[in-house]
Amino acid sequence: MQFIDLAAQYKHLQIKIDARIKNVLEHGKYIMGPEVQDLEQKLSEYVGVKHTMTCANGTDALTLALMVLGVKQGDAVFCPTFTFFATAETIAFEGATPVFVDSNESTFNICPQDLERQIEQVIAEGKLKPKAIIAVDLFGLPADYPAIQKIADKYDLKIIEDAAQGFGGEIEGKKAGSFGDIATTSFFPAKPLGCYGDGGAVFTNNDEWAELLKSYRVHGKGSDKYDNVRIGMNSRLDTIQAAILLEKLAEFPTELINRNKAASNYEQELSNKYQTPQVPEGYLSSWAQYTLLAEDREVEMAKYKAQGVPTMVYYAKCMHQQTAFKDLGYQDGDFPVAEKLSQSVFSLPMHGYLNAGRI
Ligand SMILES: *Cc1c(COP(=O)(O)O)cnc(C)c1O
Repeated sequence: MQFIDLAAQYKHLQIKIDARIKNVLEHGKYIMGPEVQDLEQKLSEYVGVKHTMTCANGTDALTLALMVLGVKQGDAVFCPTFTFFATAETIAFEGATPVFVDSNESTFNICPQDLERQIEQVIAEGKLKPKAIIAVDLFGLPADYPAIQKIADKYDLKIIEDAAQGFGGEIEGKKAGSFGDIATTSFFPAKPLGCYGDGGAVFTNNDEWAELLKSYRVHGKGSDKYDNVRIGMNSRLDTIQAAILLEKLAEFPTELINRNKAASNYEQELSNKYQTPQVPEGYLSSWAQYTLLAEDREVEMAKYKAQGVPTMVYYAKCMHQQTAFKDLGYQDGDFPVAEKLSQSVFSLPMHGYLNAGRI
């Protein structure tokens, strides 16, 4: 049994994907070929935003979003401590300071109450300028944007939605990638919508930002790529990856239904044994991971291993405990909920081709 069965997905889509790749090899527009624009339009339609700008990976997508917002040294950007490293890394990469926030116990997402506490504390200290919030749709479940938006409005902060894991999720029918001021996703192979290499995208309704993104991703280009009007980066999605994603996006709604079926089967079988993931009323998860809590996860994971079922731990270490952030001065015990999660979570196989979630 595979943790994420990419081979089963390829087998299902092989004829279409092979034809798409062959077509790119034949037309030869390997960089920014027609499939890229086609994909961007289809992603905008799916997510329900005006503009999609694809780029090289989900980490660059976050960097590009921070660049658009003008995040710089002296700025505080709030993000959950229980997330993948890139969320916080990109803030520091821009020279700004990540300010960590504890998690909600049942959704594992950023805790709005602690977010407001951390903002108040930064204001009281008076050293950093509160600038933005990166909310993460952890394990596929959109963060609590209604509550986060109220806080952002109160303190005049921008929201970046990190939907690297959340693509396909929803709140009241509104799709992940459309929350906050600007949103990002990743097409890393293991994400809900993955390609066969690295890839990412930025979503926004802001016309001016869309133009800026087009420039930033091609060396800060002006009228053409040899007219450089700002410092940018080289961050584009390869045409071959866009071609693959066009086929995977067409199949994605069906896969999303299968993931949700698998999750409800897990819930039925496991809710008397573990704390299972809870999806709040009105929310839909894309189930990037199916994550359980256990008193002693080593014992539970060993039991699954003995049955031939692979498990993984996302994430055993919070951001405030990472060596790379030791200079920020955080200590163990600063974020009790996130620390408890990092010590007790483990994830079961989850993908769109799981045999109805029965293991
Ligand atoms: C995967 C991931 C990223 C980074 O995406 P890459 O494409 O691997 O660069 C960022 N944030 C979160 C929450 C992720 O899970």
